[in-house]
Amino acid sequence: MDGLINQEGYSAADIQAADYVKKLANKMPGGFFIYRATGKEEILYANKSMLKIFNCQTMEEFREITGNSFRGLVHPDDIEEVEQSIREQIADNDDDMDYVEYRIIQKGGEVRWLEDYGHFTQHDYNGNIFYVFVVDITERKKRQLQEKEEQLQEQLRRLGMIAGLSIDYESIFYADLDLDRIQAYRISHRFRHKFQDINTVCPFIGFDEEYAKKWVHPSDRGSLLQATNADYIRQKLSKNNSFHINYRIIQNEKEEYLQLRIVNIGNRDHVSQIVMGYRSVDDEIKYELEQKKMLKDALEQAKSSNIAKNTFLSNMSHDIRTPMNAIIGFATLAKKHIDEKEKVREYLNMIETSSDQLLRLINDVLEISSIEADKMQIEESECSLLDIIQEIQSAITPRASEKDIDLSLNISGLKHYTVYSDRQKLFQILLRLTRNAVKYTEFKGKVSITVKETESTDREHATYQFIVQDNGIGISESFMEHIFEPFERQQNTTLSGIYGTGLGLTITKNIVDMMGGTIEVTSASGQGSTFIITLSLRIQNRQFQPFQPKSQAQAHALQQRRILLVEDNEINLEIEVELLQDAGFLVDTATDGSIAIEKIANAKPGYYNLVLMDIQMPVMDGYHATSAIRRLENPLLANIPIVALSANTLDEDRRKSMECGMNAHLPKPVNMPQLMELVEKILTTF
Ligand code: ADP
Repeated sequence: MDGLINQEGYSAADIQAADYVKKLANKMPGGFFIYRATGKEEILYANKSMLKIFNCQTMEEFREITGNSFRGLVHPDDIEEVEQSIREQIADNDDDMDYVEYRIIQKGGEVRWLEDYGHFTQHDYNGNIFYVFVVDITERKKRQLQEKEEQLQEQLRRLGMIAGLSIDYESIFYADLDLDRIQAYRISHRFRHKFQDINTVCPFIGFDEEYAKKWVHPSDRGSLLQATNADYIRQKLSKNNSFHINYRIIQNEKEEYLQLRIVNIGNRDHVSQIVMGYRSVDDEIKYELEQKKMLKDALEQAKSSNIAKNTFLSNMSHDIRTPMNAIIGFATLAKKHIDEKEKVREYLNMIETSSDQLLRLINDVLEISSIEADKMQIEESECSLLDIIQEIQSAITPRASEKDIDLSLNISGLKHYTVYSDRQKLFQILLRLTRNAVKYTEFKGKVSITVKETESTDREHATYQFIVQDNGIGISESFMEHIFEPFERQQNTTLSGIYGTGLGLTITKNIVDMMGGTIEVTSASGQGSTFIITLSLRIQNRQFQPFQPKSQAQAHALQQRRILLVEDNEINLEIEVELLQDAGFLVDTATDGSIAIEKIANAKPGYYNLVLMDIQMPVMDGYHATSAIRRLENPLLANIPIVALSANTLDEDRRKSMECGMNAHLPKPVNMPQLMELVEKILTTF
């Protein structure tokens, strides 16, 4: 064959056959070559297609580019692997056939892929000879590589998707139950002792024992280990595609909720391949538990407010019935003894006392409900502490004198008398404490009111202590715990004979709280009581103008003024007219707002000195009437002082009165001393 093969030992027939093969080989579409692999390694023959594959024109060129050896023909990066594969294949099969794929470098430097079918023969005289058929498979290889690349990209996309979906999972495992194998896809530090990296493969059975022991809450350990038992998993996943279990781990001495979800990714009829994901569900579960607790609390609260409502109703009906019985009883007696003046007076006095009690109860209940409905507001204005204390003193003195109680005032510790506070509420809470002190102190006892300015928090504020002390019956230790609770009384009216509602201190405490202050009590049974209210109040640095009582003559002159009383209820009208006339006022009346406007508009300025205006009236109510009066053309008429007299006594009602232009708002039924004082104040100002 082209003189390449040693012709020694070949017969003429052999040579002829070789020529025939050569001719045939040159016509073959694929490459063909023969090489000797032992002794002097060399390529003995290569057909034309082979030369073409290597981009060579002549055999010389081919020899040069391949170094005339098989080793030189194969790409240097592939030769080791190729030779080893050929060796192994020949050793393994009886046909002495091999198949390999490798790269070559063409003349010109282009890299091509070949597939190589080799047949190995052993000649005594020529050594190991390979007959090799090759096909250029570069295009196929390129296609394959591209497909692989696409597959890889697809796989990466999928992995990205899985990673995205499983972002919440701190550990993810793939396991095959049949093979008893588990491998991690993502590992949290809690599993690191077992799985160093994602290549670690472990037996499935017992893979999480150490984990459970080290991290899992002792009470949840059993259920977690049961959930990762292969039989249990098989049984669960034969019914559903996945299941989960929540358990607690202990981290930095704190409990954290985790969830293990196990998903079947194989056959449902025969569960074996599964994915297990561990993630923290701490926030969700804690939120859920919180919601449950809130619901439970709300239920309990609803139950207890129901109990409170029932207690309230039974207390109310009892507390209303007591004075009501007295009123009805004494009214019957009064009728029966109508001609016995002294007796009737006594019964009427009793009726008055009981009515007062009823009114107080109604006021207290109204106040409590406005506190509960968050309707009560603190409205600050400039007020004199001395005025307030003096007013309390005058309000309390009559009752204290009846009981021969020594009522003393100590205000020597005051430096700033004028403060900014809610005057009415401050007055009210101090009055309640003082009234209680007198109420719960026996005859000839002692009650003192002390006001101290303890410290200045800053230049604009001062801390005040209002101390109401008595040497009365005192408060037992057990009752002390309930003293600020509504309707709580140490002894009820029947037992103690002292009338009360048990609401006063509740209201007081709420108001003090709203004012940002504190209230403290020290007491013991039979040892008297001390109530201390501490408030930080804004101070007025201007000098204080002490209260100047008016002269008798001046007071008398005031009473000769004309009041227009606007009231639709006949009985109220009668009573009020009588009371006002008794006090020395001249009284004119109007039975609704529109009549009142007419009367004022048609009067000479100064004819009426004051209007007492009911609020709820037919035709025109007090608010509208007041607004209309304020709009009268003549300013002397439009500015007449108007005081609301109303059964509506909530803060809101007061504010409404002020908003439509009234000068003051007094509660009904009329309290004459209070009315007199107000009228005096208004008439001296106007
Ligand atoms: P009320 O006096 O209408 O019963 P309070 O809420 O004002 O209601 O007071 C609640 C209870 O606290 C009273 O019933 C009484 O038992 C007790 N208490 C209040 N002040 C005193 C006091 N100064 N001395 C003894 N007990 C008092």
